[in-house]
Amino acid sequence: MNNYETRIADLQASGIHSILTQFCDLHGVAKGKLVPLQNLREWVETGAGFAGPSIWGTGLGRFGARSEYYGRVQPESLRPLPFMPGVAHAVCDGYAGGLPLDTDSRQLLKRQLARLKERGWTLWVGIEPEFFLLKKGSDGRWLPADGQDRLDKPSYDLKSIHRNQGFLDDMRVALTQLGFELQQIDHEDACGQYEINYSFDDALAAADRFMLFKLTAHAIAEQHGCVFSCMPKPFAGAPGSGLHFHLSITDEQGRAVFTDSNDALQLSAQGYGFVAGLLQHADALTALCAPTVNSYKRLALSHSASGTTWSPVWKAYGDNNRTCVVRTVAGRLEWRLPDPSCNVYAAIAATLAAGLDGIDRALPVPTACNEDLYERFASGAVMPERLPVDLGVALQALARDTTLTQTLGEAFCQQFITLKTEEWLAYVASVSDWELQHYVDQF
Ligand code: GLU
Ligand code: MG
Ligand code: MG
Repeated sequence: MNNYETRIADLQASGIHSILTQFCDLHGVAKGKLVPLQNLREWVETGAGFAGPSIWGTGLGRFGARSEYYGRVQPESLRPLPFMPGVAHAVCDGYAGGLPLDTDSRQLLKRQLARLKERGWTLWVGIEPEFFLLKKGSDGRWLPADGQDRLDKPSYDLKSIHRNQGFLDDMRVALTQLGFELQQIDHEDACGQYEINYSFDDALAAADRFMLFKLTAHAIAEQHGCVFSCMPKPFAGAPGSGLHFHLSITDEQGRAVFTDSNDALQLSAQGYGFVAGLLQHADALTALCAPTVNSYKRLALSHSASGTTWSPVWKAYGDNNRTCVVRTVAGRLEWRLPDPSCNVYAAIAATLAAGLDGIDRALPVPTACNEDLYERFASGAVMPERLPVDLGVALQALARDTTLTQTLGEAFCQQFITLKTEEWLAYVASVSDWELQHYVDQF
């Protein structure tokens, strides 16, 4: 960028004095700091400096040149933040020692997208955020924010949309100002759960957008005295939150690579190859797409008062089949595994790497599933292979899947597995209320 002065003057004219330099840590959490707008050149060319060891998952040492993490502002991402007057948000790429940092998840995604570009292909991702809007009751328990949302089958409930209109409308205004093209807002399948849909984008922009979505939702929920939660399964017995990815790839001529209108599922050989890659690498992908101990409460067949939880449990795909981990929709793929606690850059990067492996090795794809897998399970029939049952199993699968870890980069994967294994071991060592209730005086 060479027109720094013009850019600064334009932003100053709209009242901006500071930039919120934002990067993403290994857990997918936004981090950053406020810096003066007038030094824009420095933030773009050198980066805002951060102590590397204070950030989850950079792998940077405590001393010397390799201890400093630099978040380099991506100038095209600069946007005034509606909920922070005078401040523009900027997405940053991680650098250390003057080089792109291999453990930075945004750099990880960019590397995978560069591989795709070599084929002349572009990945488009529509991200579907489901989330809970909560507050703490007087007894300290988490409740739906409006305090009255308690239907057995709350999907599409309008009364709670009305009660939460303050939050939802402020979201609409802020997201629109931030350049999101809103599509719909609805009450999801659990009390206190909503989904806000907006237009798809190229993969990097879609990931950046989801980070901005979370930042906005956290700020606006706080303004309304409640909490925006990406926890995948806050309530046992109610559905959890997914973060489905709608995936398509176009070639240089803009043709949809996954689509063949002559096929029964409207999928091309490449489309089937991509699905085969997702299923083949599903265990390892689960670690990156569903990365918390709580994620596995969502990915289980738990009873829900509202009927099914609609979360994936088995490795299968099917035409418009929401009971499978891959739903095919008119020559597009809906990847239903991710949940909103994932690092969205890493989850998209891994999904792409797995799908491309399926195409490149022409991996075999099983027959499409056209039955309700929840009903099949209830009938006692033999099921397709299950997704990992817990984070420990998924992390081991990622460690074993050297095709995926080598493609993604060992530095990132090693950091991820180490930190997440610590999280898993801390969880395993804890004793829950359920255990005390069932065992303390039972034997
Ligand atoms: N909440 C479900 C999940 O955990 C998805 C529901 C839907 O299909 O919209 O993935
Ligand atoms: Mg949904
Ligand atoms: Mg969906």
